[in-house]
Amino acid sequence: MGKQEDFVLRALEERDVRFVRLWFTDVLGFLKSVAVAPAELEGAFEEGIGFDGSAIEGLARVYEADMLLKPDPSTFQILPWRGEGPATARMFCDIAMPDGSASFADPRHVLKRTLSAAADKGFTFYTHPEIEFYLFKDHPEPGEEPRPVDRSGFFDHTAQSMGSDFRREAISMLEAMGISVEFSHHEGGPGQQEIDLRYADALSTADNIMTFRTVVREVALSQDIWASFMPKPFTTHPGSGMHTHVSLFEGDRNAFYEAGAEYQLSKTGRCFIAGVLRHANEISVVTNQWVNSYKRLIGGGEAPSYICWGHNNRSAMIRVPMYKPNKGQSTRIELRTIDAACNPYLAFAVILAAGMKGIEEGLTLPREAEDDVWSLTERERKALGIEPLPKSLWDAIGIAEDSELLAETLGEHVYDFFLRNKRAEWEEYRGQVSAFERDRMLPVL
Ligand code: GLU
Ligand code: MG
Ligand code: MG
Repeated sequence: MGKQEDFVLRALEERDVRFVRLWFTDVLGFLKSVAVAPAELEGAFEEGIGFDGSAIEGLARVYEADMLLKPDPSTFQILPWRGEGPATARMFCDIAMPDGSASFADPRHVLKRTLSAAADKGFTFYTHPEIEFYLFKDHPEPGEEPRPVDRSGFFDHTAQSMGSDFRREAISMLEAMGISVEFSHHEGGPGQQEIDLRYADALSTADNIMTFRTVVREVALSQDIWASFMPKPFTTHPGSGMHTHVSLFEGDRNAFYEAGAEYQLSKTGRCFIAGVLRHANEISVVTNQWVNSYKRLIGGGEAPSYICWGHNNRSAMIRVPMYKPNKGQSTRIELRTIDAACNPYLAFAVILAAGMKGIEEGLTLPREAEDDVWSLTERERKALGIEPLPKSLWDAIGIAEDSELLAETLGEHVYDFFLRNKRAEWEEYRGQVSAFERDRMLPVL
């Protein structure tokens, strides 16, 4: 047993832990949990804990249902919202097959595999997400428009506002769980919030996002309100994205940085952007996985709709943020398509894979978009070579079906299950008669 495992076993006693929750994530990005008694943990570290994988969507075929959860001791944390007294802890797990090999259906494994391919080339992938979400007064009834907790807007500071109380509580809970928060503010929509996590290696960030979504919903419940990461809950207010800043490091050197280069961006950085742009359409089904995701990418509300990059251009899909002189290590690019309702393990894996393709193939970066791309005409965008992102989940699925990059990165099992699931979602949606149609047609036809 290693040092970290020993540390966990000791902490269980010292902190009087009664339950340990073993966390893992399904293919669509929903958190799953099984609680075990602390006495089980030594065995769990050695052999894993058996569970029936067939009960979890996309995890296993019925005939190979027996699977193992192997807790990752580096993710051990006490859950702060369980209050005083005997504690409850959690650890993220890797999913293994009965013979101990990694399960191909485990999204955490998909990310680990992609990270290790990049590591073979000498790179570590860092991510820093800006997570947006709405706070509602209560859980909306089916068919009902949600009621935001306030009427404030971007960066508003309102006395005794629900939002700042909420953010304070959520942030202290995140920090109690070892997740550093860099920045937080009210976002553009009524009741809309943003909390940005400090950058970390992509596996830790993906784990942190899963924890974040849980913490935010727990804190909301404790304040009798409802939090949602739905990408576009309102027709007339901005959607919730998860802009993600990414960079590659070679050892302790930022590989995107080159002193004196335009925007301090190295060739590696430029090729990475070119790769993400080239494959943007293919990976869209993963970074924006719901029918509703595409309503956010409609143009406006500061969400991108076109495949282009720009320096400090918020209408572009990739933005190279303003650099700080002598701060080469913080050189990074900001991806603005991705939303907070994605599976972060899969989303980071496909972004990294696309960027690495750009580096391997030495792709040339297209010209940057200098204008507000939404205000250009279709013809002007065409002349600049700026293509649209998929306009619906259906478009995204069609493109993904021909994507080698996606099949390779996700692996056959996740790729097949994921696309099957998304086609079913689309078919169900396609049959829905909406308020839009009734309101338009019933008065006149
Ligand atoms: N809420 C916007 C989006 O959906 C982003 C606003 C911002 O620039 O932070 O992407
Ligand atoms: Mg924002
Ligand atoms: Mg941003």
